[in-house]
Amino acid sequence: MADDAPISIPEAALRDLYAHARAEFPNECCGYLYGDGPTLEVRRCKNRQDQLHALDPEAHPRTAANAYNIGGRELLDLVRSFEGERPVTVIYHSHPRVGAYFSAEDERAAIAAGYPVDYLVIDAQEDEIREAVLFRRREGEAPEGEGAYVRVASFAGAKV
Ligand SMILES: [Zn+2]
Repeated sequence: MADDAPISIPEAALRDLYAHARAEFPNECCGYLYGDGPTLEVRRCKNRQDQLHALDPEAHPRTAANAYNIGGRELLDLVRSFEGERPVTVIYHSHPRVGAYFSAEDERAAIAAGYPVDYLVIDAQEDEIREAVLFRRREGEAPEGEGAYVRVASFAGAKV
């Protein structure tokens, strides 16, 4: 992915992503995208963060209000996609109320996972989706440090 231009997200898919962010608000939504442009497909996932938090609040201090976790079959399909003909291109999640930045926690998780994908963060506010921003792993110096992911594209929001 890293050498490619940022993916294009058709209007209908963006609306689907924004509707998902709205449905989960004030919690984070999560999921992933296959393909690009006209072939793009949205796979909504269940945010399992609350389950993790309930099982072990010390290991998982965050709840679905400020974290996301993809698990089970959805995680399996994600991982297996990289060996198939239709790999996942983007993992997305929403940030309720706090803006579309790539947090230190987002970076840690992305670096630990090491998936060859970009990350889309959806800025979900009380009365609108403000925007969505695509982040990509930076090449070159200090790729493990803060700022390892940089914004490569943004998408206009909508009243949803
Ligand atoms: Zn995040």
